Amino acid sequence: MKASILIIYTGGTIGMKQDPVDGALRPFDFSQILEEVPELAKFAVKIDSYTFDPLIDSSDVEPSLWVSLAELIKERYEQYDGFVILHGTDTMAYSASALSFMLKNLTKPVVFTGSQLPIGVPRTDGKENLIGAVEIASAMDASSHAMVPEVTIFFDSLLLRGNRATKYSAEAFDAFTSPDCPPLAKAGIRIRYDRSVIHYPEDWDAPLQVQTHLDTRVGILKIHPGITPAVARYFLCAPEIRAVILETYGSGNALSREWFLEIVREADHMGKILLNVTQCKSGTVNMDLYATGKSLKKQGVVSGYDSTTEAALGKLFSLMGLSDNNQWVKEMLDRDLRGEISK
Ligand code: ASP
Repeated sequence: MKASILIIYTGGTIGMKQDPVDGALRPFDFSQILEEVPELAKFAVKIDSYTFDPLIDSSDVEPSLWVSLAELIKERYEQYDGFVILHGTDTMAYSASALSFMLKNLTKPVVFTGSQLPIGVPRTDGKENLIGAVEIASAMDASSHAMVPEVTIFFDSLLLRGNRATKYSAEAFDAFTSPDCPPLAKAGIRIRYDRSVIHYPEDWDAPLQVQTHLDTRVGILKIHPGITPAVARYFLCAPEIRAVILETYGSGNALSREWFLEIVREADHMGKILLNVTQCKSGTVNMDLYATGKSLKKQGVVSGYDSTTEAALGKLFSLMGLSDNNQWVKEMLDRDLRGEISK
């Protein structure tokens, strides 16, 4: 039987055209995308599509879009073998991360893709990305199970775990990287899947669980030389913020000045969730390595290990949406839930 795929079009450069009036890139409709990729008809795959209204530049993505995506996948889950989400690259890693936490017991592929150049222009990367994403979303193994039952990003021949990926180039076709997790697949003459990296469900029959309540009361504070007490206090102690992602130096270090540690202590006493991720592009937080890291740990800061900021944000939104108990959230942050950290 033919595999069936639902392509969900949210917007992004892949489907944009230059407006003849002001020259800006604006989204066009999905039928025009399909016209640009006649190759898709050659696949033995049934393809349906769903277009969001309005189509957006992904810089305008809000958590409500993730909720709509999760609900749509839930609603159509039994009808399709896999899902391809066309999405702008700017926030693709945020959306893929969030969806990975919102979808539990996933047994089907959810593949995000997009492009750096619109699909209608001669050197576009959109065609290859879309064709590869459809092939991966419909790939099954000998037991008719999905080859990649995860939320992923397929871009420029690499299939990356969604909650490990980050956009690192505004210009190159290989716009995404996943420094702390090897690719799940590489597309060359054929697509080579690395089954030792892909996560497979323990129970293929467990029903999909979709979590749509997200708590977005999170701030991200990037530590930098010259940070002032006013800025640190604003982020760490603001009553409207429940959790702060601290983007620290190296292996999880921040300034050891007493005023800073005092603010961290105050935030901890207020019951805030303080999560430490590194500003480095690869490697992990280890708060036992340096005195500066140790002081953070002592003040109640929890380790984000080698989590990307995008994954940390999605994980916090989802965990905090599940419970009002910050202690429970902290305990869950310490666990690898969807392959987002190496532990
Ligand atoms: N600004 C665009 C977006 O994220 C960029 C892209 O799609 O590559 O929607």
